[in-house]
Amino acid sequence: MLTVKSCYQPSNHYHNFRHAIDVLQATFQILLLSQIIPPLPHPSVRPIVVPITPILPNNYLTPLEILALCIAAVGHDAAHPGVTNAFLAASGSSLATIFNDRSVLENLHCLTIGRIIDERWPQLYADEDARFRKVILECILSTDMALHFDFMARFEALRKSIATDPVDEKQRRLICCCIMKSSDISNLVSSPPPIPHNLTNLIPLLKDCSHANPSRPVRWMSPQTGHWSSKKKSPRKKISCNT
Ligand SMILES: [Zn+2]
Repeated sequence: MLTVKSCYQPSNHYHNFRHAIDVLQATFQILLLSQIIPPLPHPSVRPIVVPITPILPNNYLTPLEILALCIAAVGHDAAHPGVTNAFLAASGSSLATIFNDRSVLENLHCLTIGRIIDERWPQLYADEDARFRKVILECILSTDMALHFDFMARFEALRKSIATDPVDEKQRRLICCCIMKSSDISNLVSSPPPIPHNLTNLIPLLKDCSHANPSRPVRWMSPQTGHWSSKKKSPRKKISCNT
């Protein structure tokens, strides 16, 4: 964890290690409230009361997938230079050249966390099907907002089929990506945390991110009332930071 921390640039005011921990915490909460993982067995931890019956069985994701998702959460912005993919491409940066102008930052984050895992925990990448690695890569690459609408179309299709059809490994990775993306954009609504009670309820959060500003939800939750704002905000200029 300290090695991952050292890869984040403290001078980056948003995509720093604090944001990484925020996203990890949100990921953990979603896993917990979706009953994908059990609550921590500690006397000081308040019992979790979930008012809505989850749509998924408790053992929905495998322990390895959950671990990969959590590592992806904490490493998803590692080595972020503080500029956008568009800036890197337009300025002809060496990074954009290396990654052919496609998901440049996200590929950089994958490379950074991949090297750390290779060095510190190589067993995780040792399985011949590369299951662990695939979860990490797909989760981090899914945070590229340029791919948001494509992701939403895939997730909508999965949501429709999930009640009747068994879910395979590829679809479980899509669920991991959904949790990752929701956690990544949860910072603006994290006080108090409006953590969805099941995966269906993640969709409004993701859809909010589809509006004028490609990087941030348009609506926000009041910390005082806990209600979503209904007021339409004036269109904002595209901001120069990625999630
Ligand atoms: Zn992020």
